Amino acid sequence: KNSNGKYLVSLIEGDGIGPEISQSVKDIYKAASVPIDWEPIDVTPILKDGRTAIPDAAIESIQKNFIALKGPLATPVGKGHVSLNLTLRRTFNLFANVRPCKSIAGYKTPYDDVNTVLIRENTEGEYSGIEHVVVDGVVQSIKLITREASERVLRYAFQYAQDTGKTKVRVVHKATIMKMSDGLFLSTARDVAKDFPDIEFDAELLDNACLKITTDPAPYADKLLVMPNLYGDILSDMCAGLIGGLGLTPSGNIGDECSIFEAVHGSAPDIAGKGLANPTALLLSSIMMLRHMGLNEHATKIETAIFKTLADGKALTGDLGGKAKTHEYAQAIIDNLQ
Ligand code: NAD
Repeated sequence: KNSNGKYLVSLIEGDGIGPEISQSVKDIYKAASVPIDWEPIDVTPILKDGRTAIPDAAIESIQKNFIALKGPLATPVGKGHVSLNLTLRRTFNLFANVRPCKSIAGYKTPYDDVNTVLIRENTEGEYSGIEHVVVDGVVQSIKLITREASERVLRYAFQYAQDTGKTKVRVVHKATIMKMSDGLFLSTARDVAKDFPDIEFDAELLDNACLKITTDPAPYADKLLVMPNLYGDILSDMCAGLIGGLGLTPSGNIGDECSIFEAVHGSAPDIAGKGLANPTALLLSSIMMLRHMGLNEHATKIETAIFKTLADGKALTGDLGGKAKTHEYAQAIIDNLQ
C-alpha cells in the first residue's frame, strides 16, 4: 500500500491496442473509486549478455508491487526475438495460468451455460524449450515434468477451487500414453487431493474432455480443470471459443510472489489507434486481479456494470457487432456503475 492508503499496481500498457484498452481500465477504475494507483512501466526488451531481457526498472517495479496488469505485447516474427510474454513468465516464475470462461449474456454463442475454469501448469511440460537435432532429419523435444512444479500448480488449483466455490477438481491428462510424465502429474494430484478432503477429485483423458466440453459444457460448471502446459494452452483457447473468442477472456499468471493479469488476445495491429478495440478482456483480467488482492467489493461492482452493459447491447464495440468506440463502451460501463 502507498502512503495514501492506495495499492500501487504496475501497469504494462502494451503494444497496438494496449494503450487504448488500458485507458478504459484507468477511466473505469477512477469512476469506481478503486483504491489503486497505477505505476506505468516500460518493458521494451533490452539485450543483456546476448539474451532478450526485461529492463531492470520494470522488474523492480513488479517485484516491489507484487501485482501487474498487462496489455498485449507484440512479438516480432523471425528476428530472433524471444517472446517477451515467455520472458515475463520465466523472470517471475509464474507457475500457474488461470483461465476462466463464462458465457456472457448479450453475446450469443451456441451455449449459454459455459462456466469453465482451467488452470494450466505454466513453466514446463512440452514448453520446457529443450529441443535438439539428434542426426540430420531427426529432432528430439523433451517434455519435462517434475513433481515439484506439478505439486505447486496442483496445490494452487485445489486452493483456488476451495476459495471460489468449485466443489470438484479434475486433472486432464494422457497418462494412458504418457505413462511416466503425465503419470507423475496424475499421481501427484492424487497425493495433493488428500490434503483437500472437501474437494472431490477425479481425472479425465484430454481427448475425451475436448469431446465432452464441446458437446455439453454444463457438467463442467462445478469443476476446476487443471493440467500440464500444452494441454492447458489448447484447451483454454477451446473454452474461450465457446463463449465468443479471445476478445472476452481474461487470465491470471500466478507466481510465488508476483502475479501478472492479462488479456488473452494480442495487440490487434489491424485496428490499433482507431478507437475500435474492445477492452472487456483486459477489464475482466483486472477483475481477477482485484479478487486476487482481496478487493472483492470493487471487483463485483465493476463486473456487474460490464455484464449489464454487454447485456444491454446498446454500446458494443465492432467485434461484438456494435458501433461504439472504445471510450463510448467504457463510458456506458461507468454509467452502469452503482
Ligand atoms: P490478435 O489477438 O492481436 O488479433 C486477432 C484478431 O482479433 C484481429 O483481427 C484483432 O483485430 C482481433 N482482436 C484482438 N483483440 C481484440 C480486441 N480487444 N478488440 C477487438 N478486436 C480484437 O492476434 P494476432 O494478430 O495473431 O497477434 C498480433 C500480435 O500480438 C503479435 O505480435 C503477437 O505476437 C501478439 N500477441 C500477444 C499476446 C500477449 O501479449 N499475451 C497474445 C497473443 C498475441
